[in-house]
Amino acid sequence: MIWNPAAETASRAERCRLQLERLRGAVAWAGERVPFYREAFAAADVDPSAIKSLDDLARPPFTRKSHLRDQYPWGLFAVPREALVRVHASSGTKGKPTIVGYTRGDLEMWREVMARSLALAGAEPGHLIHNAYGYGLFTGGLGVHDGAEHMGVTVLPVSSGNTLRQILLLQDFRPQGLACTPSFALHIGETMREQGLDPRAVGVGYGIFGAEPWTEAMRRQIEALWGLRAVDCYGLSEIIGPGVAMECVEFRAGLHVNDDHFLPEIVDPVSGDPLPEGAEGELVLTCLTKEALPMIRYRTGDLTSLDAAPCRCGRTTARIARIKGRADDMLVIKGVNVYPSQLEAALLTLDELAPHYQLVVDRTAGFPTLEVHVEPAEARVVAWGGFDAARPEVRGLSERVGEMLRGHLGLNLVVTIVPPKTIPRSEGKAVRVVERS
Ligand SMILES: [Zn+2]
Repeated sequence: MIWNPAAETASRAERCRLQLERLRGAVAWAGERVPFYREAFAAADVDPSAIKSLDDLARPPFTRKSHLRDQYPWGLFAVPREALVRVHASSGTKGKPTIVGYTRGDLEMWREVMARSLALAGAEPGHLIHNAYGYGLFTGGLGVHDGAEHMGVTVLPVSSGNTLRQILLLQDFRPQGLACTPSFALHIGETMREQGLDPRAVGVGYGIFGAEPWTEAMRRQIEALWGLRAVDCYGLSEIIGPGVAMECVEFRAGLHVNDDHFLPEIVDPVSGDPLPEGAEGELVLTCLTKEALPMIRYRTGDLTSLDAAPCRCGRTTARIARIKGRADDMLVIKGVNVYPSQLEAALLTLDELAPHYQLVVDRTAGFPTLEVHVEPAEARVVAWGGFDAARPEVRGLSERVGEMLRGHLGLNLVVTIVPPKTIPRSEGKAVRVVERS
């Protein structure tokens, strides 16, 4: 079903008119209320009333994550703290967390875009969704929760972690939808298999997977394990949380952006220059309707491309391609740019490996080196009669994987085959890269 046909199937002309009207309002609101924007617009000579077309959007300067950190906690807000009804925060892996906040109106908008997103994944009123995204400061859990309630879905607020309880509830409640990180879906399914249970027997129809980058290869693994349709869910707390964009379950040809609320652009990640439709670059988003925390031309750091053509599902919203990686996540090893997602895509093509990996970047020497940790597939270990790193079969596997990755990436790296189940399993967001410095 299409949750809001008027908004999601509007003609291009109607959509552009609405976007332009809302853009003027959003720029004016930010400029009047937030000193940071007032100064930035003055410096760039931006006059909200002079915005005549969407192309004029290229004039206001960018907002970056560092601005949120510099203005911690309330500096970028357009309303007094008392007007907020909810606050969330990013995990804050680098220093202070990023604080985001919502007025009552913002929460209403979030529920609306989240209900559209759940409908894109295949949800309908009356369904049951097992929500294993983390509840708390992270936006994933409560974002999905509110959207599900809003659309009349029964939501099971399990939150992340506690895999055994997840399994018990999945078996007893038999939900139509499973919402969690893709790595956690994999972990729950594998744990079931170890217990002699078949994840397919739960009968989950669709999976709403996001909050970490993943690949088509990972999608195939999860679908084979669970027998469900896996859809890619995209969002970020600075913009709203989950609900920014989602694939349609029927065609999965890019993620539909709720572009009457979040205006997407693609720019060159280095120069910041706008790129034409279809070109790959960094996604920049402008919040068109947000009250508490306006975001004008926010640099997401995510690499993708934009497609404005209508989708066969009937929706006319712009679509972004699956996120290729974050500009921030890019590793530079001996002058070669590497995205963890590239490595994942290559690794998951090998049946001989378990679908878990970790990248260890060692910066203790003069130049960084990359070591890839992978586990052999369970069937291999059984065939070998147990794991022993000194076995010729293990060394042979390590050589084959190394050769394949070097061929794919044009980069010298070390592959270490580690004993089964020693790579930490994720009950939330997977940690793919470990830095030694
Ligand atoms: Zn579609």
